[in-house]
Amino acid sequence: MASNGITSGDYEVLDSSKALDILKEYDGRDGISVTDLLDSKKRGGLTYNDFLVLPGYIGFPASEVALDSKVTRNISLKIPLVSSPMDTVTETDMAIHMALLGGVGIIHHNCPAEEQAEMVRKVKRYENGFILDPVVLSPSHCVKDVREVKEKQGFAGIPITENGTLSSKLVGMVTMRDIQFVRDPNTPLQEVMTPRSELVTANQGVTLGEANVILQKCKKGKLPIVDSNDNLTALLSRSDLMKNHNFPLASKVTASKQLLCGAAVGTRPDDRIRLQKLVDAGLDIVVIDSSQGNSLYQIEMIKWIKKTFPQIDVIGGNVVTREQAAALIAAGADGLRIGMGSGSACITQEVMAVGRPQAQAVYSVCEFAARFGVPCIADGGVQNVGHIVKGLALGASAVMMGGLLAGTTESPGKYFLSEKGQLVKAYRGMGSIDAMESQKTGDNAATGRYFSEADKIFVAQGVSGSVADRGSVTKFVPYLQAGLQHSLQDIGVKSVAELKEGVKAGTVRFEIRTASAQMEGNVHGLHSFEKRLYS
Ligand code: IMP
Repeated sequence: MASNGITSGDYEVLDSSKALDILKEYDGRDGISVTDLLDSKKRGGLTYNDFLVLPGYIGFPASEVALDSKVTRNISLKIPLVSSPMDTVTETDMAIHMALLGGVGIIHHNCPAEEQAEMVRKVKRYENGFILDPVVLSPSHCVKDVREVKEKQGFAGIPITENGTLSSKLVGMVTMRDIQFVRDPNTPLQEVMTPRSELVTANQGVTLGEANVILQKCKKGKLPIVDSNDNLTALLSRSDLMKNHNFPLASKVTASKQLLCGAAVGTRPDDRIRLQKLVDAGLDIVVIDSSQGNSLYQIEMIKWIKKTFPQIDVIGGNVVTREQAAALIAAGADGLRIGMGSGSACITQEVMAVGRPQAQAVYSVCEFAARFGVPCIADGGVQNVGHIVKGLALGASAVMMGGLLAGTTESPGKYFLSEKGQLVKAYRGMGSIDAMESQKTGDNAATGRYFSEADKIFVAQGVSGSVADRGSVTKFVPYLQAGLQHSLQDIGVKSVAELKEGVKAGTVRFEIRTASAQMEGNVHGLHSFEKRLYS
């Protein structure tokens, strides 16, 4: 050892300039590897709170950390976050905003198939380069029809074609301005529309860039695209252009520029009809929603989907063991959803005595699934940014959240005041009595997630309650994103891919957290404090 000749008690004091060389003399890195951490035979299953990731070397700014990651075999996200298919979490608004912000939303199926398909359709229509299936009316439709579209869909710039459908001759355009002061709702549109001769249009084949320039120059709200016979083929919207600017990370289908959208289905015969409707509406990812995915029903469903809709990516689950994962991978799953009993509104482990601590489940399944190139989503139990980082470090490609997103403006339902006067929103497990009862009343609305929804006696696996207001996901998701970037910077890795490589190679290290270490790692000893997470 390099020595400077000085001694300190029993130890020789070494030359500090040699510190990095001396480090090499140690047997392995500080901390433990992921395999030592999650050796469940020695230690029992761990949860996210039971361990920490050790810091590495920072040689780059947090803003340079890339978070892109695959969510299925064929689909990548810029931000590895997914909203859960729960009826208090993901409907149209959440799905649109999750996709705009770089993640993806999975629309729940606790509703009739048509309703779910309509939500998918709205997401796909929301922000398009070209709107390929615009709402179209005919000259004989009336002012009240435009008002109805405005009320239901939120827009009123409507192309008018000869027979009121796409691919028919463009004869005019109606906007809110044309009908604003019309008293008689039965006035035919031909009397109020802007006629074809006054419209600015672009020809089919125009590129998105060229069409954008025309739209910006003419200062109109909508640009109809027509073919050589003047038939309407698509529409471009100025407000979509604005949105494009505001959401550079948006998850989109490359060819159509439409937002990515996922939806959940069950495994019953009716679910095949449901899925057909969702696919017709433009679905990209289907999640087979089951609390215990390793079933004959799910395996048959995956095989059927892969044969019938090869263009759709299927996420199977939920699973928590290698054996469950193997069955769904063999059936053809393009992704897996991991978690049983870790959800914040879940009582599965208590009632069924079945499940697995989430960190252990994520590691076991991801390690196996990675060998087949199948990405995994760590689903449930995420309470903070740190949990997301841990899920990714243990091999997950993305993280699914329910409770954490349920309090945002974009989740279904209205805010109300709790008994303590706090602003809250309802959040319920899909296996709660509440949710299961609602499934019996809806037409074709049983999710079958817990295999109990059609029984005489419900066995609940979830509770219903409320969660605190979290503001809009347009602020919350960027906070999670920035938090993830800072965390990966602390760990010393520049991307999610590098994090996984580091964990696999044993260069990213871990430490078990005792109960007192957990207390030490949280705020302690303060008389009072306010925990504001971002501004
Ligand atoms: P959270 O993010 O911790 O709230 O967990 C959300 C996840 O909990 C969902 O994505 C589901 O996998 C799971 N989950 C939803 N409802 C229930 C339930 O009633 N019982 C058990 N798990 C549920």
